[in-house]
Amino acid sequence: MRQSALFTKTRKEAPADETAKNAMLLIRAGFIHKEMAGVYSILPLGLRVVKKIKDIISGEMEKLGSSELIMSTLQAKELWEKTDRWSDEKVDIWFKSALKSGTEVGFGWSHEEPITNLMKYHVGSYADLPVFVHQFQNKLRNETRAKSGIMRCREFVMKDMYSYATTEEEHMDFYNKTSTAYMNVFKALGLGDITYVTSASGGVFTDKFSHEFQTLCDAGEDNIYLSKDGTTALNEEVFNDETLEKMGKSKEDFELKKAAEVGNIFTFGTKKCEELDVYFTDKDGQKKPVFLGSYGIGVTRLMGVVAEIFGDENGLVWPASIAPFRAHLLVLSEDPLVKELADEVYTTLSAEGVDVLYDDRNLRAGEKFADSDLIGIPTRIIVGNKTIESKMFEVKDRATGETSQMSLEHLLTELQ
Ligand code: ATP
Ligand code: MG
Repeated sequence: MRQSALFTKTRKEAPADETAKNAMLLIRAGFIHKEMAGVYSILPLGLRVVKKIKDIISGEMEKLGSSELIMSTLQAKELWEKTDRWSDEKVDIWFKSALKSGTEVGFGWSHEEPITNLMKYHVGSYADLPVFVHQFQNKLRNETRAKSGIMRCREFVMKDMYSYATTEEEHMDFYNKTSTAYMNVFKALGLGDITYVTSASGGVFTDKFSHEFQTLCDAGEDNIYLSKDGTTALNEEVFNDETLEKMGKSKEDFELKKAAEVGNIFTFGTKKCEELDVYFTDKDGQKKPVFLGSYGIGVTRLMGVVAEIFGDENGLVWPASIAPFRAHLLVLSEDPLVKELADEVYTTLSAEGVDVLYDDRNLRAGEKFADSDLIGIPTRIIVGNKTIESKMFEVKDRATGETSQMSLEHLLTELQ
């Protein structure tokens, strides 16, 4: 893409009311636009990142055998009344409205109830199970606090997945596979070494845990207890004498760490399917309730966490796996010969499948460098007056700051 065709501009300053590093950088670089506190629009550069995160997640979900669907944002009150989750006392983040007729509706903050209700029409016998479905959806939540930038929003993109199984064993098999798949996602984003499967309270099963995926991050809103050997992580709810005793550990084995919850996996058991009347007929003809699991990943929160963790004083620093472009090509002269060479590099790299943002604008070198640092594309390639003779390009790694001189062929092998 030619940068002259990118409508977004970079900014020197973030909005005065924005205090979170992730949102400040993402706004200044033109990835997101702040509509109001906790509400952001995703601009072309940001959308490229979000799409790449989604693609990584989709790949893992497909391997699990999950089918993608998309549920409506408007939700029926009756379903949530059946499970006692409609009232604001039970769920304090509902956005609600009413139809012209007066009928109340809710805006989807989660989808267990409508998806489970949907299954009633598709699941009848044990032969229909298990079923796994997922979606990428904008969730709406009336969050009280919205001070963490794009990490806590009132509208945000979530990947949510639901599993329907005949038995607890069948459920646990999928649950464990999902845990591995989630870690694969976080590894692909460069967060593998600092993301921990963290035991949390189990909800329906008081004797068992659910699991959160917590990424160590000073801007995170959660506190977790991480064992000094790095093998065990517990959230605040379950860090107590009873848990420690069961694990044969003591308080001193753990350190308190700041973290951001990037995903979680949860066992619902059969209660919700009983409440919503979702049963199947087993091999022996017996009617049994379906076993539900629920699994979330915060897609836009992840973009924020990556910005927060890798971003430096000059701007964003994207891992290649989710960078909006693989390379940023800067032409530093208006000499027609230099422009011609830069055009050629752009065409060659693009034809070889390398995603390039080409800064072809008539701006001073200093401005181009500052924008390039702010946008954070992994590899910067410079074409200037000197390049004409040497045909060696100055290449800079955004993350390490290392520079080197490379021929076009060498550059191609590096970028492919
Ligand atoms: P939190 O404790 O951070 O509020 P949650 O327990 O409410 O999270 P879920 O309802 O399970 O989270 O949502 C699944 C995932 O969606 C979370 O793990 C998180 O990554 C993301 N998420 C939740 N709330 C928000 C939000 N307000 N803004 C952005 N992402 C969110
Ligand atoms: Mg929440």
